[in-house]
This record gives sequence, C-alpha cells and structure tokens, in this order.
Amino acid sequence: MRFDNLTWKEAEEYIKKYKAIILPIGSVEEHGYHLPLSTDSDIAIRIAEELCKRTGLKYLPIIPYGVCISTRDYPGTISVSFDSFRNFLRDILISLKNNGIRKVFIISGHLGDSHISAIKEASRDLDIDVFLLDLREIPYEDVIETKPMHACEYETSLMLYLYPDKVKRDKIVDEEIYKKRFSVKGLRKTESGVFGTPSRANSEKGKILFERIIKSFEEFIKEELSI
Ligand SMILES: [Zn+2]
Repeated sequence: MRFDNLTWKEAEEYIKKYKAIILPIGSVEEHGYHLPLSTDSDIAIRIAEELCKRTGLKYLPIIPYGVCISTRDYPGTISVSFDSFRNFLRDILISLKNNGIRKVFIISGHLGDSHISAIKEASRDLDIDVFLLDLREIPYEDVIETKPMHACEYETSLMLYLYPDKVKRDKIVDEEIYKKRFSVKGLRKTESGVFGTPSRANSEKGKILFERIIKSFEEFIKEELSI
C-alpha cells in the first residue's frame, strides 16, 4: 500500500489511474509516561493503511517530524520550525503535482495549532487539491468523557485499540492543563506531559473512534474520487 514500494513504471500506472494519494504526517513528541514518542505517527499510519485498503489509493512515506510547540521542552520531542516544515511539505506537494497527482489527502496525527497552520500554508496557491482529513472534525462527545487534549483519553483509547503493546498502562496518570489567562505562550508544562484524563481510556472507545474516523474519511475520499 506504500507508494514507494512501487517501481517507477508501476507508479506511472498508478498516477494515471488515480491521480490521488494519501500523505500521513506524524511527530516525534512526548506523550506522557505511558505512550511512545511515535504516537502521532503510529495513529496516522494506521489510518492511512486502512483508508488505502478501502479506496485502492497508496500512501506516501510518513513525514515523521512536525512542529511541536507546547511540548518542545520535554526530552524526546524533536520539533522542526514552522518555515522548514511548511517549505518541506510544499516541495513534496509541488513534486506530486509535477508527477500528475491532482488530489492529496493529508492525515496528521499531530494537531498542534502551528503545525496545522503550516500544513495549510504549505498548500496555499498550489494548483493541486490538498485536503486535510482532520481528526478534530470527527464527533467524539458520545464516546469519550473528557475533552481531547494531549496523551489524553482520546489518544490513549486509540492507542489501546491499535497498539495495545505500546501502552504502558501502569504508567498512566491524569493531569489537568494549566493555561494562564490571556497568555500567548500556549500550554503550560505538566509534570508527566499528559494534558487530560487518559485513565478513562479503553480499547472499546478506541475501536469506536477509529471506525468512525475511517468511515468518515473513506466516504470523503470516495466522493472526491467519484468511486
Ligand atoms: Zn499526539
């Protein structure tokens, strides 16, 4: 399902047939005591794989680094600058366009404000349709009890469903975020790096969320491709 497993001849055929591709984006970022740095990438990859199975599309190798502002002081978070990320992504989009790709479906596991802005900026004024399949637009209120933040009930539930062996359940702690009123600095640090209530997470919730995400994105892609 990975585009780069094709030969160039196969890639040529694929592009001619679909003119569309999926691009997952992740991060290397702290996710509390209980989740790996790869959490955002792990989730994005699984969504990409599942969508490829259902639509026939291929996915590009993941962009493994993102713009991580609020977590950048934790050991293990590897962040790139807004400009570097935007330019790098823009170059990829331009190259895809030159290849004959007309529609790019981006799935980002990382959802920081600056990171998402950089994705939007990267695709500005390009003669190619770029869609951000945004996890934040999928309804969750009836599934999880607490607001999605970071390494929270939402993310931990997805990880418990998709990668149970990667979750250190005995290390789960809940921490409230403390945001100074009117502060422009973003989230304040918590001790664990958790912002939210992962203790409420379970794999059943993760399964419902994952299936809902896939269904919604699958419908959107099929509509766009008219298949
Ligand atoms: Zn995350």
